[in-house]
Amino acid sequence: MEPVNLQTIGLMGGMSSAATAEYYEIINQKVKEAKGGHNIAEIIICSVNFAQIEYYIRTNAWDDAAIYLVDKAKRLEAAGVSCIFLGTNTMHRVREEIKAAIKIPFIDIFETVSAEIKQHEKTKVGLLGTYPVMSDEFFIRAYNDCGIEVITPQEKDKKEIDRIIFEELTHHQIKARAKEFYINCIRELAENGAEGVILGCTEIKLLVNQDDIPEVPLYDTLELHCAKAARICTGEEQLM
Ligand code: GLU
Repeated sequence: MEPVNLQTIGLMGGMSSAATAEYYEIINQKVKEAKGGHNIAEIIICSVNFAQIEYYIRTNAWDDAAIYLVDKAKRLEAAGVSCIFLGTNTMHRVREEIKAAIKIPFIDIFETVSAEIKQHEKTKVGLLGTYPVMSDEFFIRAYNDCGIEVITPQEKDKKEIDRIIFEELTHHQIKARAKEFYINCIRELAENGAEGVILGCTEIKLLVNQDDIPEVPLYDTLELHCAKAARICTGEEQLM
């Protein structure tokens, strides 16, 4: 089997390592499916210290987070990648700062997910993610700007959803109780009018998938971001 020429993509990872391992695995799988043989993705990964990221989130230190991540994005650009994927929803909070600092395309997770939702002709969806993703106006607006209305769980559930992400999933811990809790939250969002639910955190895939709740369409941000990465890598999708 002839090897094919691939675009080298950049991935900002470590947010968390559990999510980045999934990105690496899924992008490679998809490139292999598309091109066959031993063809896998060309990726340069810049993996950051997740403790640093957690600190920025907990203290709302978005300016410091921007400085930290802009430096990493510039290093990836200097390494010669064709575009950058930031493998976390929450840290898209500083996407404008990153975009402004680089000349290569930044592949926005919200735009990627919104395009898929629109393709399914849905306009109102539920959103699960870290506490900031479900509560900070920035994230709601990011989807609204793409023409998607989002609804979020009730306050006490948001806290538990966030706790499970930071105390379990990012430590690679998958628990039956957490899975049941997430499935109930998804069901409740659907009962409240959501036509589907965005898994708006790149670790949720470890806990829940479409087979667990076939009646509610799930939009997994990690899966959709990876599919886009594979298409760019193989040249099926051209960079603008
Ligand atoms: N990976 C998560 C996300 O998609 C949460 C961890 C982080 O803050 O980066 O938002």
